[in-house]
Amino acid sequence: MTVKKIVIVGGGAGGLALASKLGRRLGHKADFDICLVDKSPIHIWKPKLHEVAVGAIDKSIDGLLYRDHSLKNGYRFIRGEIENCDHSNNTFQLAPVYAADGELLLATRTIEYDFLVLALGSVSNTFGTKGADEHCILLDNLNSAELFHQKLLDALLQLSESADKKVSIGIVGAGATGVELAAELFHVIESVKEFGYVNVTQHHLDVHLLEASPKILPQLPEKVSARAQSLLDRIGIKLHIGVQVKEISKEGFITHDGNTVPADIKVWAAGVKGPDVFSQFTTLPVTKRNQIEVDSFMKAIGTENVFAIGDCAELKLADGSFVPPRAQAADQMAQQLYKNLIKRFTGRKQKPFEYRDYGSLVSLSRFSAVGNLMGSLRSGQFFVEGHLARVMYMSLYQRHLSSLFGWFSAIIYRMAKKMLRWHRPKLKLH
Ligand SMILES: Cc1cc2nc3c(=O)[nH]c(=O)nc-3n(C[C@H](O)[C@H](O)[C@H](O)COP(=O)(O)OP(=O)(O)OC[C@H]3O[C@@H](n4cnc5c(N)ncnc54)[C@H](O)[C@@H]3O)c2cc1C
Repeated sequence: MTVKKIVIVGGGAGGLALASKLGRRLGHKADFDICLVDKSPIHIWKPKLHEVAVGAIDKSIDGLLYRDHSLKNGYRFIRGEIENCDHSNNTFQLAPVYAADGELLLATRTIEYDFLVLALGSVSNTFGTKGADEHCILLDNLNSAELFHQKLLDALLQLSESADKKVSIGIVGAGATGVELAAELFHVIESVKEFGYVNVTQHHLDVHLLEASPKILPQLPEKVSARAQSLLDRIGIKLHIGVQVKEISKEGFITHDGNTVPADIKVWAAGVKGPDVFSQFTTLPVTKRNQIEVDSFMKAIGTENVFAIGDCAELKLADGSFVPPRAQAADQMAQQLYKNLIKRFTGRKQKPFEYRDYGSLVSLSRFSAVGNLMGSLRSGQFFVEGHLARVMYMSLYQRHLSSLFGWFSAIIYRMAKKMLRWHRPKLKLH
C-alpha cells in the first residue's frame, strides 16, 4: 500500500484550517499521512495580533498548541522553519535549530511530500523606507506583537511613577491593522487604572496614525472610512492623513514635507508582501512580490502537486484583480482546496476557486466596530456599525474555530474561554 503524504507548511488562518479538516477526514486512514509544519509551537489567529500587542489576550491561555491539537485532529505536527524547496525531488528543507546558547540542537532536516501546500502568510512590506526595519516593530507575527507588549508595559511603568511624563506611539498605515491597534491602545489606557496605575490617564498617551492615502481604511468604502475616522477623532487619536513617511529615526517619523512626528514606540503596519524565504524557491513560480503564482485550483503554475493558499498565494481573478490578503480569503481557499483534494482522491471533478467578498469589518475595540457587508449584486453593500458589526466581526473568528474543532466543539470552546475570563485579569500585565 502506498501512503499519500500531504504536507502543509504554515498553520495560520488557511493552513491550520486545512490541516484540521484533512486530518479529521483522512488522518485515521492507513494510506494517508497528513502533516503540518510551522515555525511556531503556538497558533494565534493573526487578526488578533493587535490584541496580543496590547495585552488583551495572552498567548499562553488563548493560544492553541499545535502538538495538542494535532493529536486530537488526526494530523502530525513538525516544528520547523522551511528554508528551501526542491520541487524536482518533492522535498523541502527545514532550517537547523539552535539552543539559546548557540548549541546546535537539530541539523537541517529534509521532508518529503507527495502533495505540498504552502500557507506561510505574509510579512510587512516597508517598501525600502529608510530606518523602518531598524526602528519599527513590524506587527506581522507573534514575536513582534509580544515585543510591542513589553514596550507598552515599560512605558506604563514609567508613566505610573511620573505624572508629567507622556508616551507617544506612532503607527504607519491606517488600514485595518493600524486602526484596530490605535483604538485598542486607548481602551487599554482606560483600563489600567484599576490595576494600580493610578497616575495613568489618556492625557499621558499620544497615538499618531499616519496614512499616505487621502483617507483612513483606504480599501474600504467612503462611508466606512468616514465613520471610523470620526470615531478615532472622538477617542483622541491624532490622525495624519495624506502624509507620506520618508524616513524613520529614533525620535520619530520624518514626513515628505519635512516635518517630524515624534514617537517613542514606532509600528509599521502599511502593506504586506510574500515571505522572503520564497526567493530561495527557484523551482517554483515566485512573483516579484514574493508570492507563489497559482491557478484557479490553487496549484502552483507548472506543477501538479504543489499548492499555495492565503496571503502567500497570488491568484488572479477573472476581473484582473487579485485575491486580497485577508483572513476570509485564506479561509475560503482552505475550504475549497480541502474539497478539491477529497475530490481528486475519489476521482471526482474539481471546482475552480471563486472568491466571495463578504465585506470587511474593523473593530474599534470596545468603542465600536464598523464595516460593510456585501449583499447580492442587486442589493449592493450594507454599511454596518456598533453591536451588529461587532457580532459580524466575531463571526469570522467563530468560522475559523469551526474549521479547527468542528462547529459544536467551537461553540463549547468559545463559551469555556468566556467563562475563564471571569477568573483572570482583563489584561496581561507581565
Ligand atoms: C493585526 C492584524 C489584523 C488583521 N485583521 C484582519 C481582519 O480583521 N480581517 C481579515 O480578513 N484579515 C485581517 N488580517 C489579515 C489576516 O490576518 C491574514 O490575511 C491571514 O491571517 C492570512 O492567513 P494565512 O493562512 O495566509 O497566513 P497566516 O495566518 O499569517 O499564517 C501563516 C503561518 O505560517 C507560519 N510560517 C511563516 N513562515 C514560516 C516558515 N518559514 N516556516 C514554517 N512556518 C512558517 C507562521 O508561523 C503562521 O503560523 C489582519 C492581520 C493583522 C496582522
